[in-house]
Amino acid sequence: MPRIAIIGGGISGLSAAFSLEEKRQSGAQADTKIEYVLYEAAPRLGGVLVTDHVDGCLLEAGPDSFVTEKPWAADLCRKIGLGDQLIGSNDADRKTYILVRNRLVVMPDGLMFMVPTKILPTVFSPLFSLRTKIRMAAEWFHPPHKAEADETVAAMVERHYGPEMVDRLADPLLSGIYGGEASQLSVRAVLARFADMEAKYGSLGRAMLAARAQMAHSKTPPRPLFTSLKNGMQQMTDELVARLDPRALRTSTPVQSATPQNGAWTVTAGNQTETFDAVIVAMPARAASAVLQSADATLARELGEIVYSSSITVALGYDDAVRRSLPPGFGFLVPRSEGRRLLAATFVHNKFPHRAPADRAILRCFLGGAHVEESMSASDDEILRIVRQELQQILGLTADPLFVRIYRWRAAMAQYAVGHLDRLQRIEALRQKLPGLALAGNGFNGIGVPDCVRSGTEAASKVLTAMGISSATSSTVTG
Ligand SMILES: Cc1cc2nc3c(=O)[nH]c(=O)nc-3n(C[C@H](O)[C@H](O)[C@H](O)COP(=O)(O)OP(=O)(O)OC[C@H]3O[C@@H](n4cnc5c(N)ncnc54)[C@H](O)[C@@H]3O)c2cc1C
Repeated sequence: MPRIAIIGGGISGLSAAFSLEEKRQSGAQADTKIEYVLYEAAPRLGGVLVTDHVDGCLLEAGPDSFVTEKPWAADLCRKIGLGDQLIGSNDADRKTYILVRNRLVVMPDGLMFMVPTKILPTVFSPLFSLRTKIRMAAEWFHPPHKAEADETVAAMVERHYGPEMVDRLADPLLSGIYGGEASQLSVRAVLARFADMEAKYGSLGRAMLAARAQMAHSKTPPRPLFTSLKNGMQQMTDELVARLDPRALRTSTPVQSATPQNGAWTVTAGNQTETFDAVIVAMPARAASAVLQSADATLARELGEIVYSSSITVALGYDDAVRRSLPPGFGFLVPRSEGRRLLAATFVHNKFPHRAPADRAILRCFLGGAHVEESMSASDDEILRIVRQELQQILGLTADPLFVRIYRWRAAMAQYAVGHLDRLQRIEALRQKLPGLALAGNGFNGIGVPDCVRSGTEAASKVLTAMGISSATSSTVTG
């Protein structure tokens, strides 16, 4: 019977395992039996999807939601019976602030990601200087431009709108997603749509308006920007785990190596070595690099060169008086030029329903970027001191929190540097020389939860196809 190993039990590995489980169940009837084993280093499955429940509040330690526009995570939720558990962000209350010289300035209406599409709100916004506003007007006439080579997001945005736009919008928006810097991230890897729009229209503003006009003609009703689950993101991984074959799950079992041998793969974890027909490596690229060192040193080097950054999330719960004193909206972003440790804070009680009782407020603070590595080894007291000091300076918040939870994520977020897509091509060429190997995870084609779901599902279908087994299954969509 064909045997497949999955290494890494985050959302990528669990999505792969679920596809194989579907195949295993349908194969039992169709006589194409398969078997899989999921190895996970940690005592629990789910990776960075961790939801806590404290004092009637729901706290997300890792991701709090996913973008609705990318369908793969929501589709998987429907497939596993969680369709009626999907919730949208409270977009009617959406308002995001940017900290400018220690004042919270609301992001003007009509910004699509960072591209202004409405004239008046932008003209009257104190977020930008007159010089940047003039650049925005001139951007309308930007000629089509196809960049010869990859470049940083900062370089592209600066070419269109000048450096202030990089500092006040591009960088804070991206650091909320990647924990990284616009001056490091690749346009082609993280904002491919912008590169295409620039090549076709020249002006990003005109391109966004064209896209909006198209959306207005579409019959699809407007959807919330972000989607989550009533009981939190971990509901998704818990449900996936519940649907897997329990005999296949090996937690607290870090894999040391996966090595091709005589047309098969040997996987070594602790002092146990097992043989498989195929292996899905679904871990952060640096961990994948170590595991694949004995398979192909060049592949391992390429994987190891994908940079990861660390981050810390701090959840603070407050009472009703604080809830009433906080500004409306989803929260604020902090440009690097403000010199703070906080990169962003979310007013969780406003962003999603089912997160806090009416008399509680939850602030979720996000620390990342240049200073985060020192903070990773700082004590909880020290991190809390910094966070409370900055919240006091930014929001005037002096009240003692009712509860605090601090979550450290070491090297969990991939940073797609300039040249990332070329590296992926080299990795793919090397992978093809290792039959039976598939790669999944956030180091490759998208860091968000939907991208990771897609990467796991595709990896499963790749190994099945390579083994001559059809990856199609007849499954029922429920929920
Ligand atoms: C703080 C934070 C906030 C985020 N916010 C959002 C958000 O709001 N929306 C969004 O879409 N995305 C968000 N992301 C990104 C997204 O959550 C991740 O990219 C995604 O969940 C990664 O899933 P994964 O399975 O690829 O990796 P992981 O979740 O990292 O799972 C990999 C697993 O591999 C295991 N492993 C490692 N080495 C070994 C080994 N040798 N043997 C066996 N197992 C091993 C690890 O223990 C881990 O469980 C956020 C990420 C973080 C850290």
